Amino acid sequence: MQNSEKENVITYFEVEKIRKDFPILEREVNKKKLIYFDNAATVQKPQVVIDAIANYYKQYNSNVHRGVHTLSQEASQHYEQSRIKAAEFIGAKSSQEIIFTKGTTDGINLVAQSFVKPLLQKGNEIVLTMMEHHSNIIPWQMIAEEKGAILKIVPISESGELLMDEFEKIISEKTKFIAITHVSNTMGTINDVAKIIEIAKQNSIPILIDGAQSAPHMQVDVSKMDCDFFVFSGHKVYAPTGIGVLFAKEEHIHAMQPYQGGGGIISTVTFEKTTYIQGPLKFEAGTPNIEGAIGLSTAFDYCNNIGMQTIFEHETMLLNYANALFKNFPQVKIIGTSEHKAGVISFAVNGIHPFDIGTLLDKYGIAVRTGHHCTQPLMNFFNIPGTTRMSFGIYNTKQEIDYFFEALEKVLRMLS
Ligand code: PMP
Repeated sequence: MQNSEKENVITYFEVEKIRKDFPILEREVNKKKLIYFDNAATVQKPQVVIDAIANYYKQYNSNVHRGVHTLSQEASQHYEQSRIKAAEFIGAKSSQEIIFTKGTTDGINLVAQSFVKPLLQKGNEIVLTMMEHHSNIIPWQMIAEEKGAILKIVPISESGELLMDEFEKIISEKTKFIAITHVSNTMGTINDVAKIIEIAKQNSIPILIDGAQSAPHMQVDVSKMDCDFFVFSGHKVYAPTGIGVLFAKEEHIHAMQPYQGGGGIISTVTFEKTTYIQGPLKFEAGTPNIEGAIGLSTAFDYCNNIGMQTIFEHETMLLNYANALFKNFPQVKIIGTSEHKAGVISFAVNGIHPFDIGTLLDKYGIAVRTGHHCTQPLMNFFNIPGTTRMSFGIYNTKQEIDYFFEALEKVLRMLS
């Protein structure tokens, strides 16, 4: 493929077609056309996903797994179909390795409570990295405090890459678990998870990959990766909020005990003892997020129809385009300049607070995120209070980036 062709993997026409799938992109903000660059926080929803949810309520709203009547059977079938699609989406061997959760945070808490906590003893260590989201820090901190265990943190370079030599040095016989993000939500760094998992396996240490920022933007194959656990959120893969996926190897699903009790997970209950059913349902106590699972299923179809590789290439093209234009702004410092990056750009401007930049960009209809992005330890490492972050999704265009830079120029002039 020629370079110029490669640049336009999704042609202007096709992006325009994709944009039509997202009704919210029609709206105006502050009398300007909305430009949505906050996709790392959550993405917008295509009409097909909105319709699938509405259709569930209009046609077969019912509780799952407990009914013999038609509506319940239909709801159960769609709910379980979503589990099969989730397995396919991330390359799990079977739907029996997929637990539905509320999202990434919920999945990490489940692994912390059900898998890691029972293993932990005083003095044991859990390895994290400097670039973790608070969701991949606090659940480990909670169980470490309870059990007298210690968190060990892999440092990063100034460009926002993991120091792999340090990682290898931190691993020891005290390490009981590793939890690492696939892609940094603040910097976009794509970590070399294949290498990290290889080292974990060599040392027989189970490992969780936080896929909140990878599953929506690139092809993921958990079987090839050979990680023990992989988590992501529905709302970042064009599905609704309140639904997420936890992949766990089948052997772990069998061995782990649920940490939340309730209906739907039992085989028998007496006041003396409860026995649980086998498989992922053991971890889905109570009425689940049925509409969420149905929306998720449609979102997987939507992404697959475009193709995850196409999505990755399109967002990489936008990343490269924006990076080149940032060179015209010498006063702007990009936070995270790793060679391997997803479509996330965080930046800081000396003497100007990100909040002011974000507030003024909003006047131009541009949605960016400002602050610490739930990565305060990372902000401390860079010695900054926060950044302004633009992050791309499938519907973003070069034209929007051009408009962003026109607005940024005016905003920085106003604030200087
Ligand atoms: N990890 C990473 C890397 C994230 O980007 C996010 C969301 N910003 C989370 C975890 C938490 O996801 P959620 O809030 O959907 O549970």
